Amino acid sequence: MSLGELLPITLSNELPAITRQPLDNGVVLRWVAEGVLRVDPPLPGTWHLLLSAGVHGNETAPVELLDRWLRRIVAGEIVPRHSLMLMLGNPAALRAGTRYVEQDMNRLFNGAHLQSPGLEGRRAARLERLASAFFEGATAGLHYDLHTAIRRSRFEKFALYPWQPDRSLPDAEYLRLAVAGMQAVLSHERPGHTFSAFTSQIPDVESFTLELGKARPFGANTGLDTAAFEQAITALSEAREMATHPDLALPPRMRAASSLIKLSDAFRFHLDDEVETSNHWHRARSLRWTARGVGTSSTTGPTFSSLTQTWQSDSALD
Ligand SMILES: [Zn+2]
Repeated sequence: MSLGELLPITLSNELPAITRQPLDNGVVLRWVAEGVLRVDPPLPGTWHLLLSAGVHGNETAPVELLDRWLRRIVAGEIVPRHSLMLMLGNPAALRAGTRYVEQDMNRLFNGAHLQSPGLEGRRAARLERLASAFFEGATAGLHYDLHTAIRRSRFEKFALYPWQPDRSLPDAEYLRLAVAGMQAVLSHERPGHTFSAFTSQIPDVESFTLELGKARPFGANTGLDTAAFEQAITALSEAREMATHPDLALPPRMRAASSLIKLSDAFRFHLDDEVETSNHWHRARSLRWTARGVGTSSTTGPTFSSLTQTWQSDSALD
């Protein structure tokens, strides 16, 4: 099987027959680890692009997108001029068709896996090592960690910018996101344990969690339009900047006003299906909500009904 079959190989839970595959145009594919492929251009470049998907195993659209995109590289249709790494984040969950097997992996980065040495904890630690090693050889780089949302959102496609001290969203990255079809850019205001929060600490690497639509099973993503995003990563990989045009919609920049922190497995957050994820992002009110179990939830400030209008929950946003 060609290494361009990264997704089928990963879903079959087998090792590829080869681990290095040069293409006729000089591009070289290398199997790095389960679900992880490195693509090097004919002439070595110093800017590196990491694209990850499937950190949540039920969010299949970005996984299918990377699969399609990789096949275009193997066919010679796209000739990268930068080094790329493609990662399928949680192969066990992808095979099971579930968000995770034991634990939500996108809460286990930035060292949180040290307290959670299970399947997802070990995988998060491995992805951290592989991402660090990939960017070590770069002068600068970019990481897009691709997701889809569980819940319908006012913005179908949006970017989350991890918090780092003394850093704000660069205009060049903001424009790239606009061209890639993102309809909003939300900056976090405190440290996180997501994959993009981990890579955002690497010097000269910008990273984002991107939400590309609603989560659906494999094969059910045909309604999702990711053309602009695919064009954007193609241009990035080929060292072209996509031209902005006068009628390009500039996405609003927002800050996370509140977080919902689950402290107990017994905690359930009930929302009507009609409530949208980002319904009231514009409300800049602070909210603290802690829950230690069903029936003993407490909140300071707004009541539950106003909470449903201001909420922004980690589980729904990345
Ligand atoms: Zn996700």
